[in-house]
Amino acid sequence: MKFSQRLPESIESVKRIGNLPLIGPRETERLIAKATEPAGLTEDEIVILLNGLEDSENARVVLEFSSTYSRPRDDEVFLLPPLYVSSICENKCAYCDFSTGGGVRLTAGEFGEEVDTLLGMGYRSIELVSSQDPELFVRQTPFDPSDQRFDLAPTVRYFEILKERIAADGGGMITSNIPPVCARGFEDLKGAGLDCFLVWLETFDPAQYARLHVNTGPKGHQGYRLDSFERALEAGIAHVAGGFLKGLHDWRKEEAILYLFDRHLKERWGRGFSIIGSPRVKGRFLGSMAIRDNLVTDEEYELNIALDRVLFDGILWLQTRESLDFNRHLINTYGGGVVLTLTSSTAPGGYSKPQKTHAQFPVFSQDHVRAVSQLEEDGLTVHYAWDAADLSEAQRE
Ligand code: SF4
Repeated sequence: MKFSQRLPESIESVKRIGNLPLIGPRETERLIAKATEPAGLTEDEIVILLNGLEDSENARVVLEFSSTYSRPRDDEVFLLPPLYVSSICENKCAYCDFSTGGGVRLTAGEFGEEVDTLLGMGYRSIELVSSQDPELFVRQTPFDPSDQRFDLAPTVRYFEILKERIAADGGGMITSNIPPVCARGFEDLKGAGLDCFLVWLETFDPAQYARLHVNTGPKGHQGYRLDSFERALEAGIAHVAGGFLKGLHDWRKEEAILYLFDRHLKERWGRGFSIIGSPRVKGRFLGSMAIRDNLVTDEEYELNIALDRVLFDGILWLQTRESLDFNRHLINTYGGGVVLTLTSSTAPGGYSKPQKTHAQFPVFSQDHVRAVSQLEEDGLTVHYAWDAADLSEAQRE
């Protein structure tokens, strides 16, 4: 059974969060400690733990536990810049600035220049990002939203260019942030160099997912997106990375379902998420009525990060949607062993030339050299060049 088939049952289960009697700090401490044991938490226990976080004393217990909890390679930071190929998108996600049209696609030559610019800065682990560009993900007909098939040849070419240039520079790693594809497509992408398949799940809640993806393209089928990790693992992709977009729905319910999803992957495939993402809604959509009851404060965000370090074997990815000062605070309080984005253009072509098109979402522009020296002053070892073996070593056993 794939996770999309289990989702309705998980949704029912997490509806209890916010409605159960609160546990006390001692029980919170017992559960958070149990989460670090190999057996982890049962479905009821994760629900009870997250329900209890309404109480500030319980939240304090989690923050304190996480701040003293050690993970592998805790004093290291792994840098990962995004590299956008296209911002032309047939999906129309309510929270994304690419849904307004006017996107661009890089030619192979322009893409090569972007790769060289990032390699010139020292990066050798790169996230290749693409929107649902109909000329890169060419629908096969007839098109079945629940079993989507694309001609991926144009997309594969970008992976090949990236793989060749990273290899020529000494080797590294490719993470993708592209629309989900079929198992056969993942095999082609693996052959072209894909090491880690990432997809943000936005929100697990089916009603909110449907509301935010009205009139959209292939992304409208939530189940196909959810099950993409299992197709990637089936195709032999070494690592998968997931997360939800904080602020679209009740973050405690989303966190509980992410935990159940990770547990499902471990049970079925022997491995869970290698990277847990931490994006939070930013920009113009913050004012939307559709999400106003779900906005995540800095305090809640920090609590979510503290929990992630304890609940998951995979490592955290701290992003440029947050300021460097906030990310440094999180690392210095809870530990490193995280992926971090410093250099970030969220529009295609923004590294080698001045940006010509609009970005996907606002980011904190950071001078990576200065930021790295600040992190080094904090006692951290910062890696520009790292690979899939480093990612494996950074996992909790
Ligand atoms: S979030 Fe992704 S799929 Fe949705 S509109 Fe933006 S680029 Fe397209």
